[in-house]
Amino acid sequence: MFQGETRRGRMFPYLDDAICRGLDPELFYAESGAAIMKAKSLCAACPVREKCLEWAIKREEFGVWGGTTARERAAIRRERGLRLVPAGVA
Ligand code: SF4
Repeated sequence: MFQGETRRGRMFPYLDDAICRGLDPELFYAESGAAIMKAKSLCAACPVREKCLEWAIKREEFGVWGGTTARERAAIRRERGLRLVPAGVA
């Protein structure tokens, strides 16, 4: 997931310990239910899942992060009264 010059690779601060490090990023941007469950299962075993989730709630509009889908994070933002941090802002 962190290959190349993706926003994720540049900004995500927990890269070293992430289970998704070196995996195909497309695994985490799938659209089918089975593929999303696969991504979530990878996150479930990740040692930085909770940190990742807090990061993503504020910053990531798309994809599976911290075991949540984009829709699930949007619901959390609504519950917390948060907005996405604009891209390029740490
Ligand atoms: S929780 Fe998921 S998206 Fe976040 S670093 Fe771990 S494997 Fe990657």
